[in-house]
Amino acid sequence: MKYFEGYRCGSCAREIPAGSAAGECPACSGPLLCVYDTSAIRRNASARTSASTRSGKGVWRYGDLLPDFARKITLGEGNTPLVPAPRLGEAIGARDLYVKDESFNPTGSFKARGMAVAVSRLLELGVKKAYVPSAGNAGLALAAYGAAADIPCHIFIPSETPEGVAEECRLYGAEVTVVPGILPDAARALDASATGDRTGVVSTFREPCRVEGKKTIAFELEEEIEPDWIVFPTGGGTGIVAFWKAYRELEALGTLRRPMPRLAAVQAAGCAPLVKAFVEGASRAAPWKDPVTIASGIRVPSSRADALILQALRESGGTAVSVTDGEIMAAVREMARILGIFPSPEGAATWAGLRRLVREEKISPSARIVMVNTAGGARYRFLLDSREP
Ligand SMILES: [Zn+2]
Repeated sequence: MKYFEGYRCGSCAREIPAGSAAGECPACSGPLLCVYDTSAIRRNASARTSASTRSGKGVWRYGDLLPDFARKITLGEGNTPLVPAPRLGEAIGARDLYVKDESFNPTGSFKARGMAVAVSRLLELGVKKAYVPSAGNAGLALAAYGAAADIPCHIFIPSETPEGVAEECRLYGAEVTVVPGILPDAARALDASATGDRTGVVSTFREPCRVEGKKTIAFELEEEIEPDWIVFPTGGGTGIVAFWKAYRELEALGTLRRPMPRLAAVQAAGCAPLVKAFVEGASRAAPWKDPVTIASGIRVPSSRADALILQALRESGGTAVSVTDGEIMAAVREMARILGIFPSPEGAATWAGLRRLVREEKISPSARIVMVNTAGGARYRFLLDSREP
């Protein structure tokens, strides 16, 4: 059975047919979200207890809640380890603490989940070339999945991207343009270059399927431990929107027998547009001026889905917090020393953020808490050199 019905704009609710090549809403340029016939899924699987179809592996195991593409590209993404972290949590009294370690994905980050689905859509649409602006991990993932799907890719990376990313993207056969500056500068360079057919552009919230792939982190967590809180580093915000969407779908399927977990977005103090908007009670986030943080994956001054992210945080009963670069580096060291996990700065930001949120009594330490380490730390080893404690 195919349950994928098409797309709906996250801003104006306009509906777009399933076969459409649109990457964003043709009426308002808002983000498109995939829509499924959840009542048909319910009818056809009365004994269903989770989102899993029990066939397929990893991300594609949740095929009922993904678009049904003829070719499903995979490099083995998903099914990442959930690591209990009670000894780390001791410092804040959080004994029911876990790390979902997304560094085990192909190309070493959670971006693989989204790109597996996004690149499968490009294949279905017959796209001849794919593009993405990236601070590193999304570019690596697109380059690798593009190679697997035999779709040429062009990655635009800012000059501040960690060393080695450009070379590795080229290793996968991608064309790489290094743009002076930070992520928005790379995005502008892409826009100037891909002016004609934009179907192959898979920028954050400019195509609908990266959210779909990332949704599967929530499906896995729900099968594993039913968390009370999910703490996630937030730049462009696909992760937060993906969790919220995943849990809304589980509610619609009738498999969620409790309120959805509360979502905590962690940003860097030097680039925290969503935290500022959340704290001020605003429904939109103003772009952040002069973003500065060592965590390049969340050095994102504005998101195309700011309203949706803020809605997701509030609907879940969640929160948002920012942490300094000093706190992030201390968290990298603590997680490595106490857990045996060398996290990316973004992943470490979740631990720094959780520490603050417990201290500020926004999260109860007795809750069941998952921090998502979005990528491994090995690419960021250079950050350790100049910041010995
Ligand atoms: Zn719209």
